[in-house]
Order: sequence, then structure tokens, then C-alpha cells
Amino acid sequence: MTAKNAEDPDNAAAGLGKIEGERLVKDRAARGTVYSPVTERVAADLKDILGPSGVTVDSEKCAAYSADETLPWFERDYPAEAVCFPQTTEQVSSLMSYANRNMIPVTPRGAGTGLSGGAVPALGGIVLSMERMNRIIEVDEINRTLTAEPGVITAEITKAAREHGMLYAGDPCSGDISFIGGNVAENAGGNKVIKYGATGAHVLGLEVVLPDGRVTAFGGKRRKDVTGYDFIRLIVGSEGTLAVVTKIILNLLPLPKCVMDLLAPMPDIESAVRLASLVATKSGVMPSSIEFMDRQSILNVEKFTGIEIPFSASAAAYLIIQVDGMEHEQLWRDAHRVGDVCVECGALEVFVGDDRNARDRIWEIRHLVAEEEWTISMPLLSKEDIVIPCGAIPAFMDELPGLAERHRASYNAYGHIGDGNIHMTVFPAEEDGRSDLFARADAMRLDLYHIVRRLGGALSGEHGIGLKRAKYSPIFLGETCVDLIKNIKRAFDPNHILNPGKIIP
Ligand SMILES: Cc1cc2nc3c(=O)[nH]c(=O)nc-3n(C[C@H](O)[C@H](O)[C@H](O)COP(=O)(O)OP(=O)(O)OC[C@H]3O[C@@H](n4cnc5c(N)ncnc54)[C@H](O)[C@@H]3O)c2cc1C
Repeated sequence: MTAKNAEDPDNAAAGLGKIEGERLVKDRAARGTVYSPVTERVAADLKDILGPSGVTVDSEKCAAYSADETLPWFERDYPAEAVCFPQTTEQVSSLMSYANRNMIPVTPRGAGTGLSGGAVPALGGIVLSMERMNRIIEVDEINRTLTAEPGVITAEITKAAREHGMLYAGDPCSGDISFIGGNVAENAGGNKVIKYGATGAHVLGLEVVLPDGRVTAFGGKRRKDVTGYDFIRLIVGSEGTLAVVTKIILNLLPLPKCVMDLLAPMPDIESAVRLASLVATKSGVMPSSIEFMDRQSILNVEKFTGIEIPFSASAAAYLIIQVDGMEHEQLWRDAHRVGDVCVECGALEVFVGDDRNARDRIWEIRHLVAEEEWTISMPLLSKEDIVIPCGAIPAFMDELPGLAERHRASYNAYGHIGDGNIHMTVFPAEEDGRSDLFARADAMRLDLYHIVRRLGGALSGEHGIGLKRAKYSPIFLGETCVDLIKNIKRAFDPNHILNPGKIIP
């Protein structure tokens, strides 16, 4: 099979439906690697490996597995040619070995909640859905570990740990819908990274299938291991480009018994950042969350929901600070100490939520900020995920009004300020019509990224590079780093069949 064959009408007829979209053919050709399409013969072979119900080539079903939550960026542009649903590691191994021999691209997929197009089949081929590998294999109280297959919903892991009186502390805001395998592949973060770390901090062991079908394991139920290179840290966050994760051993922690949330409206960005940076050292309490919302985010919520948020006329930013612990009275004392630092840093008020109802009302604001952003920014959801040193956040926020003015755009900013991780969405003004929205947002994004880089920041804190940001990653990585990434990729995947088109252009 040659690249030319893939564009040949006769060959397309032998393929399955409208699998060879114009863009796909162009992108495949531009890659220079010679990939094969999924023909009827290939589909039959895949069914031999996975059983008839383990494969679909139905174009509607394939379309449902061809996008993620980066919508509308990649909707319909990159159709999968087949979707496969393995149930065992052995099946994944046979499938990878077959795809590797036959030069068919394979894109691993979790729940498809990604925000960078990581699970989008950039060059077509097979989407490898992990949804049927969804067993919690074991909760081990003695070793304080939980072992699971990659297709388990994250919230089920949290629940299983809790039922055994333990905490699984990896907690992306998408925990109710994402899979643990997707969390590992993205090194997903969330609201609790400041205290507990991102997903990778909880991974003790992995079983993986390499692109050529070999099965291997890294780490295990041990908390120390310097035997050879740290492959776990390499696979975590590698966005399904190096290996398919088929089993995960997670570290569990003691379960905090009580939680309190504080909401602090702040008069200006500087004092909000000062509070976020100093609260732990000044209070002696390590918060489990420090979340930030700028004034525009709050105004968007008020405008679209009608909810009135206190101090919205005077506050420039809001912080939510969460503390957790084992004992209620101690936690009250901790919350007081944190509240004192809030006041010291200039908080206009400090609201404390110590029961479920009050806490839910505080977090509702934060959830609505993210929700309203989707409503406002369609059809262009530019959701950024930049991360900068906390000390540089005031300088960064100072740059934003000028950036918006240069590009005739508005923006809102919110996120995990304790980690320096700011989500922001730009809204180019629509007075010139919508036709060039994407081009203008792209120009603004480039400008933004150069500011972030100058301030010592990075392109993505937790959502990943995927397809969405691949063309920008060299701005941050530099030539030597890109070279190393290419060499590591080649060592794992010499034929470039596993999730091609991601991370670097
Ligand atoms: C409402 C909402 C809130 C969100 N909040 C957060 C948040 O707080 N923090 C955060 O970090 N992210 C967040 N996300 C983004 C997203 O949920 C995470 O990136 C999540 O980890 C993706 O998991 P998934 O199972 O949906 O993976 P997918 O989107 O299906 O895939 C993501 C990547 O993982 C790879 N992959 C999946 N499974 C495997 C496997 N078994 N082996 C190898 N590679 C694999 C894919 O190829 C792809 O590159 C949010 C998304 C939404 C929609």
C-alpha cells in the first residue's frame, strides 16, 4: 500500500465509506509516512482479533468517536475509519501488533472529554476505545493501592477508595465523565493539585502495550524505585503517543473527614495573587484548593444566570480557598487562620462554607464560570491552559488589556491560581463578521504565547498539547527539546502509528 494508493479512487472504493476525507489525505501525505487505509479486509482481520462486536466501521458510529470536547475545533474534520473496543490486554497487544505490521494509525481514546484534541484521529485509521476495559481490579488496604483498567470513570475510583476509608486524590473537574486512563495520559490536574499533586503524583505502576504489541509493566505497589529510568513519569502525560495504558496502580491516602471553603472577593489582582501565594506560609495551613476568577468571569455568570454575586461591583477578582482535615474543631481553627490572611491581604469580605449547602453555593460560582464561557464563546472556544510562575501572574494580568486592545477582543480569566494555571478564553469582537474569527483568535493566541514565554510560563498546565496546540509547542520547547521528543517517540514507535500528529507539529 502506498500513500498514492490511499488517494486513488479505486482504492477508496475498496475502503469503507467516506473514510478518506480531503483533509485526511492531505495531512497524511504531508506527514511523509506511508499509512494504509482500513479496507474491508482490514476490518475483517480486526474482527478476528476482537470479535464481531469489538469493531465498527459504521460511519455514524465512527463520527461519534472522532472528536473530543475541543469542539468545535475538530468536529467532522478527522474521521476515524474504524473504532475498536478491546476487553483485554491481550486483545490490545494483538491489535497493536497488527496495526504496526500494516502501517495503520491507532489513536487511543478514553471518554473523549479532552480539551486538546488528543483523542482525535488526526490521520484517520483506528480509534482504540478503552471503554470496555472498565474494571476496578482491586483495592488493597495493606499496600494502600487501587488497581484499575483504563476505562474506569474517575469518580468510580474516588468512590471505591472512599468505601475503603481512603482518598484517591487525583481529581480533575471532569471526574464524573473522564476515564482514569485519559487522566493518566494527560496527567490531568484539577482543583486539588496545590496540595495533592496532579494525576501522575498518584500513579505507582502501569501496565502498557507498546506500539509493536509488546506488553510491559513499569513500577508496581511500591513507593520507591530508582531501578533504571522513570518510565512512569514518561508515560504519564505522553497523551497516548508512546504506549497504550492497560492497567494502572494508584496510590491512596487517608481520607480527610471534613472540608471547608472560603470565598474571598479581592479589590485588585495584586492582592489576590499575594493571597494565593502567601496563604500557606502565613497561615501554616496547606489549602487543598486555591481557585481564581477575574471580574469578567463573574460578570458573565451574573449576566447569563441572573445570579447576584456579592461585591461584583467592587471586586477585581475572587478566590476560593478550600481546607480539609480529620477533625472539625481543628479545621475551624485552620479556616480562621486562613481567613485572617485573607483579611490581611485586603479581602473585601470572607464568606465561609462549612456545610454541604454553603460549600455547594460557593463552588457553583466557579462551575458556572466554566459553563458560561462555553455559551459565550461558541463557535470559537479558545479555552487556554497557560501556566506561569505565581509571582509573574500580576505582570501577566497587566498585559491582558493591551493584548485585547491590539486584537479588538475581550477575554475572561480564571483557574487554578495556586498552581499558576490560568484558563482564559478570548472573544474577538464580531463587528467584522464571524468569517475570520479563527484567524484573528490565532493571531491573538500567538501574541499571548509570546507574553507567557517571556514571563517564564508554558503552553499547557493540564489539558495537554494534543492536536490543538501542536503547532505552537516549539515556541516553548526549543530545538533541542523537540529533537529529544522526536527521538523518544522513535524509540517507542519507529513506525509512527500510535496517535500521530500530536504534541509536536
Ligand atoms: C467539563 C470539563 C472539565 C474538565 N476539567 C479538567 C480539569 O479540571 N483538569 C484537567 O486536567 N482536565 C480537565 N478536563 C479535560 C479532560 O477531562 C481531561 O484531559 C481528561 O484527563 C481526559 O480524559 P478522557 O478519558 O476523556 O480522555 P480522552 O479525551 O479520551 O483522551 C485524552 C488523551 O489520552 C489518550 N488516552 C486515553 N486513554 C488512553 C490509554 N488507555 N492509553 C494511552 N493513551 C490514552 C488519548 O489518546 C488522548 O491523547 C475537563 C474537561 C471537561 C469537558
